[in-house]
Amino acid sequence: MDFQLNEEQRIFKKMVHDFADQRLAPLVPALEKSGEVLDHKVMPLYEEMGLLGICLPERFGGGGQTAFEAILAIEELARVSPIIAFPVFETNVGPIRVVDQFGTEEQKQRFIPPACTGEKLMAVAMTEPGAGSALTDLSTKAVLKGDHFVLNGQKRFISGGGHSDLYLVYVRFNEIKGAKGIGGIVVEKNTPGLSFGKQEEFMGLQGMPSSDLIFEDCLVPQENLLIPQGDFAKLMQAFDVERCGNATMSLGIAWGALEASKKYAQERVAFGKPICEFQAIQFLLADMAMKVEAARLLIYRAVTNAGTGLPSVFESSVAKCFSNEMAKEVTDMALQVFGGYGYSKEYPIERMLRDSRGWPLAGGTVQIQRINIAGAMLGRRFNQR
Ligand SMILES: Cc1cc2nc3c(=O)[nH]c(=O)nc-3n(C[C@H](O)[C@H](O)[C@H](O)COP(=O)(O)OP(=O)(O)OC[C@H]3O[C@@H](n4cnc5c(N)ncnc54)[C@H](O)[C@@H]3O)c2cc1C
Repeated sequence: MDFQLNEEQRIFKKMVHDFADQRLAPLVPALEKSGEVLDHKVMPLYEEMGLLGICLPERFGGGGQTAFEAILAIEELARVSPIIAFPVFETNVGPIRVVDQFGTEEQKQRFIPPACTGEKLMAVAMTEPGAGSALTDLSTKAVLKGDHFVLNGQKRFISGGGHSDLYLVYVRFNEIKGAKGIGGIVVEKNTPGLSFGKQEEFMGLQGMPSSDLIFEDCLVPQENLLIPQGDFAKLMQAFDVERCGNATMSLGIAWGALEASKKYAQERVAFGKPICEFQAIQFLLADMAMKVEAARLLIYRAVTNAGTGLPSVFESSVAKCFSNEMAKEVTDMALQVFGGYGYSKEYPIERMLRDSRGWPLAGGTVQIQRINIAGAMLGRRFNQR
């Protein structure tokens, strides 16, 4: 077991670190105020840096690396802002990995190259108004008529909704109940019969588009069928890597809060000395560091063990659950280090605290992760009904 990055990984991480500080961090305050989607500004930079599709195959324009290299990049970018990191997340650990792992050769040729250039981002549409944690209750229907599927239904809280070019939509075929009837179809944004609800207003994650997707007799060509009915397990398996990406968003936010707190604690003076000289502040910093380091190791283990494949449900759920909860605690502790200034919008900590709150909900709640963990540990699936 080697806990050191190799030379190439160290250089790569440092390059992304400096790029994030110099080119991306200055964009964050304005992004926070305007909520403007920044993809048009950052995407050309990401393409130039080779950050889109780091772990997608080289023959389709990807970097040909493992998910670990992608995670290193997401961590560095999320340290500055998870929204800034989002396109890198989507093109490395998002639904495009389902295409990569399970798509036909034709689908790979069609969908992967534009993800690697940033031309076409793919979002994942699972959640519905009546099916969140209980995903297998989803009711968006797909009925084959001739050479097209006809889709009817509604999706909720879709990150990238109204903005992404492609959607991997989880649908139910032939009214078959439960997981057995569920598969996945890729729907292009401009397909007639697909419309978008109003943009969500979340407490954090300003600048991340999110909306309902509404399907009304939406005709999707048969060749866009990615995961047929009966292969729901493949969708979930591929989601294990997205879970690690989600965990890394939390890690990046918490690490950013820790770094800012270290700096602030050495600069801020109270009672005539820097507050880092008070043991109470030292203990806060030490506790924050322990939590960040532990989350980092859990995430690195899950993705390293996955290699070029997919992580295990146990390791990815442990990493996500721990990291999601860790980031809430660490950003809250950071706010305490900053005192009243932590509560002010002039400083980044209150944003980090709000941003940290989204990830334990997205991608399966922390309660659902615990169910996954217990199930994997005990070798059983516990029916929640
Ligand atoms: C920022 C953000 C981004 C998102 N992005 C996407 C996206 O891109 N695509 C997408 O498809 N969805 C997305 N979602 C939706 C997200 O996946 C769901 O919100 C989540 O799965 C929970 O579903 P729900 O909101 O319907 O809550 P519910 O399922 O109604 O759960 C409510 C509460 O009950 C708990 N609960 C439910 N069942 C159980 C159980 N069996 N045991 C114990 N506790 C339980 C939950 O943990 C939760 O605390 C996003 C959500 C957020 C907040």
